[in-house]
Amino acid sequence: MDLGLPGDDDPRRVAVTAWIAAHPNPAPRQLAEAGYVVPHWPAPYGLDADPLAQLVIDEELRRAGIRRPVNPIGIGWAGPTLMYAGTDEQKERWLWPLLSGEEFWCQLFSEPGAGSDLASLSTRAERDGDAYVVNGQKVWTSYAHIARWGILLARTDPLAPKHMGISYFVCPMDAPGIEIRPLIDMTGEHAFNEVFFDDVRIPADHLVGPENGGWDLAKVTLGNERVSLSGEGALWGMGPTADDLVAVVSAAGGAPDPIRRDALVSVWMESQILRVLRLRMVSAVLAGRAPGAEASVRKAIADAHGQHIMDLARDLAGPFGMVSGTDPTPSTDPTPSTPSTPSTPSTPPAPSAQPGDPTWSRGFLFAPALTIGGGTAEVQRNIVAEKVLGLPRDT
Ligand SMILES: Cc1cc2nc3c(=O)[nH]c(=O)nc-3n(C[C@H](O)[C@H](O)[C@H](O)COP(=O)(O)OP(=O)(O)OC[C@H]3O[C@@H](n4cnc5c(N)ncnc54)[C@H](O)[C@@H]3O)c2cc1C
Repeated sequence: MDLGLPGDDDPRRVAVTAWIAAHPNPAPRQLAEAGYVVPHWPAPYGLDADPLAQLVIDEELRRAGIRRPVNPIGIGWAGPTLMYAGTDEQKERWLWPLLSGEEFWCQLFSEPGAGSDLASLSTRAERDGDAYVVNGQKVWTSYAHIARWGILLARTDPLAPKHMGISYFVCPMDAPGIEIRPLIDMTGEHAFNEVFFDDVRIPADHLVGPENGGWDLAKVTLGNERVSLSGEGALWGMGPTADDLVAVVSAAGGAPDPIRRDALVSVWMESQILRVLRLRMVSAVLAGRAPGAEASVRKAIADAHGQHIMDLARDLAGPFGMVSGTDPTPSTDPTPSTPSTPSTPSTPPAPSAQPGDPTWSRGFLFAPALTIGGGTAEVQRNIVAEKVLGLPRDT
């Protein structure tokens, strides 16, 4: 698919290459102030860039080896919501250090009793003078332990219908009464946390949008989440791809038996389908259309695809796959899963150098999270059923 990106003399490309020539090693703040962190945001935080200009900027930054600041929840989710509903003071206070990555953000939405059915949340925020007093518990809060700010959903009207009594706050993560307890996941890493609120006072001017109007803003946040989780790599756009797996296996002399070779081809074909879906989404946006059905379908397929890649990588490692820190280099497993047939001879692979690249074993342990976070596999299918196929609502 030809996306028809503009050539070297296009004024949009000339502008960004000239800026890069003047700032070959830009500080994160300089990138933010130039509008290159999120170019499609309105000025002064972005450049009001149309989709074509965004692709040109991405291409030139990548070519120059310039990396954008890392602040996934801040830039991907909190920022768009503040752009949508924040006051001028709120935008000025929070958006610059958010864009430059100087202040890291987390998302305080999920609770023990409210995940897919987020509107059932029960954390309370009660107005008391110039502050809201918050009590309750959040869970699965990624990066709470290193975040300066969190976007918080809390119930401000317990008597209203559940979607209508929720408000959206910016929560200072160092406020007295907040306790953050680590949750270690099965990769052995500490990424998410439980967060407890005990009479936490949040200044009233940290309310975003109207009181009890938080559900509409949560939808803005979650809408951005779905788009930003759909990338090329197996782990929510990061990590290795099916092409990487094929390259590792090829370098090791091929798959050890026909069953695994077949699985490798299937996973690679899946990656091609996803690639075409992504190109369709990009070309729809370039043509000024909403991505529509492709976005929901793509997330549902991409999450499962990530698991297929990581499962196969473990499988290819044979018995060594049970050891952490190994990669999918086909092992010298003496008992392959099926005997090879004369018509499909398998060449015994070279002995595997163990341990290998730990990216793969970590990816395998992380992969089950793919079909839970950012909307579970079942919830994605509900969205496709209702919004794309027009089937009756889930009750
Ligand atoms: C890696 C990771 C990072 C995360 N980071 C954050 C974070 O930073 N902040 C945050 O707030 N949350 C975070 N989450 C939490 C995440 O948003 C929730 O786990 C998710 O919304 C699912 O909620 P739950 O775990 O309560 O499961 P539940 O909603 O209880 O679901 C349990 C099971 O029931 C199924 N189910 C539920 N409802 C339906 C339905 N209507 N139809 C069919 N099946 C259904 C689900 O698909 C699932 O299989 C993170 C999760 C992961 C895995």
